[in-house]
Amino acid sequence: MQQIRQRAYAKINIGLDVLRRRPDGYHEVKMIMQTVDIYDDLLLEKTFKPGIYLQTDNAELPVNRDNLIYRAAALLMEEKKVTEGVKITLAKRIPIAAGMAGGSSDAAAAMRGINTLFDMGYSVEELQHLGVKLGADIPYCLVGGTMLSEGIGEILTPLPAPPDAHLVVAKPDINVSTAFVYGNLHAEQLQYHPDIDGMAQALSEKNLRGICDRMGNVLETVTVREYPVIEEIKQLMCRAGAYNALMSGSGPTVFGIYTDGTKAAEAAKMIADENLAGQVFVTGFYNAEMN
Ligand code: ATP
Repeated sequence: MQQIRQRAYAKINIGLDVLRRRPDGYHEVKMIMQTVDIYDDLLLEKTFKPGIYLQTDNAELPVNRDNLIYRAAALLMEEKKVTEGVKITLAKRIPIAAGMAGGSSDAAAAMRGINTLFDMGYSVEELQHLGVKLGADIPYCLVGGTMLSEGIGEILTPLPAPPDAHLVVAKPDINVSTAFVYGNLHAEQLQYHPDIDGMAQALSEKNLRGICDRMGNVLETVTVREYPVIEEIKQLMCRAGAYNALMSGSGPTVFGIYTDGTKAAEAAKMIADENLAGQVFVTGFYNAEMN
């Protein structure tokens, strides 16, 4: 095999709770992750010349070791002492620094691609074990779908997929640092914790209303105060007919869940027309195989 293509899918958190801050500074989370049908494309090609050659259509992104794709490729290639090289071309669509795990998903896709391209024979579990060294979301991104994620994000339990729905995903033009959000979260003082167990139950009952009624993200306590546009987008989405709307991860991306595709399209248009977000997608959940 000389080349392989991989898709790197984005995720949203339909529920995100933080249980406590551990003495080592990591936060213990309890969240429900959901893959959505927004993806980056990676093309991986073998080169005779050793090394990792990364290129992308997005000038904002580094193409050196600062890019998670580079680190993921290097990790596997050093581990297996590969003597050839690889050229990786990234077509970026997932909003950057958005709370959609774009970097982690790219890294996971690079790991899957390198594993196949160089016939390394790693199992998914082995890739997850290696990948967590690069980022807590990478084990999830290697498999995707609907998952309960606990610990620092590495303890994964598959959940039933939600019923099909239309999603509006909007990334306002602000940059939110994950470190800032967690750094300003007072996990011990949180007044409200989303009902993650109840949401898991609603997922197993295929009860979309029950799922949406339990949507909650404790990180909004930090982000919404700092960036009111997040709340504005949530309210617009709900006024426009969403079952519910929520910020994903550490933000600033907001998503709304709709059963009516026309209402979803109208909401997306209103968000764009009012200049509340520069990147707006109408999409859906994605629960098929990662490849
Ligand atoms: P998370 O949901 O895991 O917090 P995120 O959506 O907030 O992720 P990313 O888009 O993954 O954030 O990236 C955040 C930072 O990581 C960016 O500032 C970017 O420079 C760097 N980065 C490194 N590699 C990548 C990559 N392949 N894609 C996107 N960002 C990357």
